Amino acid sequence: MAQPIPSGGFEFGGRQYRGSFSRGPGGLVINLVALEEYLYSVVPREMPSSWPVAALQIQAICARTFVLRHADPQRPYDVAPSDLDQVYEGVVAESPAGRQAVDATAGTVLRYGNDYADVAYSSCCGGHTESAADAWGGALLPYLAGVVCPYCMDSPDFRWIRDVAFAAIARATASQLSGMGRLRDIRLGPQDASGRARYVELITDRGTVAMRGSDFRMAVGPRVVRSLLIRELSVQPAEGALTTPLLHLEGAGNGHGVGLCQWGARGMALAKATTAKIAGFYFPGTALDTWTNVSPPATRTTSRRR
Ligand SMILES: [Zn+2]
Repeated sequence: MAQPIPSGGFEFGGRQYRGSFSRGPGGLVINLVALEEYLYSVVPREMPSSWPVAALQIQAICARTFVLRHADPQRPYDVAPSDLDQVYEGVVAESPAGRQAVDATAGTVLRYGNDYADVAYSSCCGGHTESAADAWGGALLPYLAGVVCPYCMDSPDFRWIRDVAFAAIARATASQLSGMGRLRDIRLGPQDASGRARYVELITDRGTVAMRGSDFRMAVGPRVVRSLLIRELSVQPAEGALTTPLLHLEGAGNGHGVGLCQWGARGMALAKATTAKIAGFYFPGTALDTWTNVSPPATRTTSRRR
């Protein structure tokens, strides 16, 4: 149950939230909260508060622009409070550095033409951000075409290696292989312009099945296949009776790679880049602007299911 609390805001699911709440269809609890106060909670959940000021500021601008761009009048709420949209956990997530980044950029958004830029961000691009069109289809957006990023090398995921039991891969890909017999081998298929795997080829007793890279990543697990910037993929046979075959993966980056590279923003900020410079690097052709110059104001809400 959501309950108002005397000091303002309300409590729901053991957490305290700013603003007020209303009931939506199907038991939905909808938090009516000022956009800037919503961002107080989002910024520290999407980026560590210990990171440099300019990185936190571009994160605040991206998160603000995301909400304004994705607010959908057909839904009873604007954004979901999870990584479906942006992680929002109320007051407990807030930090002084996060609030400062929001306040210092209050009302600032990324504009492209006369609209909010369709911003995206992810942890570490591995050296080349991804084109939105390659990742998700649709028209090529000039400011989301992918850039070479030399700034994210401090990320623990800038280069990664994983060895996964081949049997686990066979289970994870089984739904793709009905009637095709056993999985025998896997190879990297064609890559897109950034080097990310568009497809992996599943080689079976009865032929080869091309599985979309993004489907492969989700099926095996995004914490295992950290990104689709896979530089090496090979099946290593068992060595002796006590071992099992492994899929050996070497890759770069963590996340989908589209838009802002968060570790790259950190790297640029540590090298004294301004917030505007970081914005221009990852979203070339966009401008920082006040949101009231882009579209009329609206109340921002988030929601969570009871
Ligand atoms: Zn990067």
